[in-house]
Amino acid sequence: MNSPFDLTGRVAVVTGANTGIGQGIAVALAEAGADIAAVGRSEASETADKVRALGRKCELVSADLSSIAPVGDVVDSVVSSLGSLDILVNNAGIIRREDALDFSEEDWDAVMDTNLKSLFFLSQAAARHMTGWSDQQGKRGKIVNIASMLTFQGGIRVPSYTASKSGVGGLTKLMANEWAARGINVNAIAPGYIATNNTAALQADETRNRQIMERIPEGRWGDPKDIGGAAVFLASSAADYVQGHILAVDGGWLAR
Ligand code: NAP
Repeated sequence: MNSPFDLTGRVAVVTGANTGIGQGIAVALAEAGADIAAVGRSEASETADKVRALGRKCELVSADLSSIAPVGDVVDSVVSSLGSLDILVNNAGIIRREDALDFSEEDWDAVMDTNLKSLFFLSQAAARHMTGWSDQQGKRGKIVNIASMLTFQGGIRVPSYTASKSGVGGLTKLMANEWAARGINVNAIAPGYIATNNTAALQADETRNRQIMERIPEGRWGDPKDIGGAAVFLASSAADYVQGHILAVDGGWLAR
């Protein structure tokens, strides 16, 4: 009997897959059997090597998601090169840090455009493809958004990041509400504190690093690999009845 977590024959788009959490997710989906389209502004050659070493295909799709201009081409290019688009992981994201009193419009727009606007319009483009499947194909589309602890909390010195990730939580539920009956599952993962480029400044700040570590029951920063299992679950038929959920993978941070 096939495992409900098996992704063999599925095509997964992962945005921002060249490094960090996106790379961890791309490799985990490939381990579960999916072919991968690594979408981003930097070439994901290291990720492609890891995915291909697992015997899965990996297409590199160049797209700068600071604007929504490339979203239609991304979907067309994935479908023409890999034959379908079954899973979308909206992972690409940026953060800008400044006191709220001094925060600039440029830092507001840059973060909102990449983290929220592109996430929505790429999801829309993917959903238009997924809702075009015939019932006979028996497939369900899966969209997994990468949220944050700041989907639930306010944070400090990151107003546009908090606004964008709170928005990701709301949009995850809205898209699930509208598309569940159209054969698409939309859910999110809220990573805790994961050691990547995104959190390099926090890891380097001795005081903030100690404060963060003290609150994590697991007693360590997360690794991008820690997010992989949740992504496989939400991308698989094991999660066919899971909708609009925000799954924290945080070493217990929110439980404190
Ligand atoms: P990261 O190492 O900085 O990775 C961010 C990824 O997004 C990179 O691949 C980056 O590409 C890509 N990206 C940024 N702007 C882009 C653009 N305009 N077009 C295309 N791709 C773009 O950080 P990460 O921690 O892995 O972050 C991944 C996601 O997890 C983000 O949404 C982040 O907000 C979220 N997250 C992270 C943490 C954490 O603790 N690390 C916690 C909660 C949520 P480049 O390499 O080309 O910049």
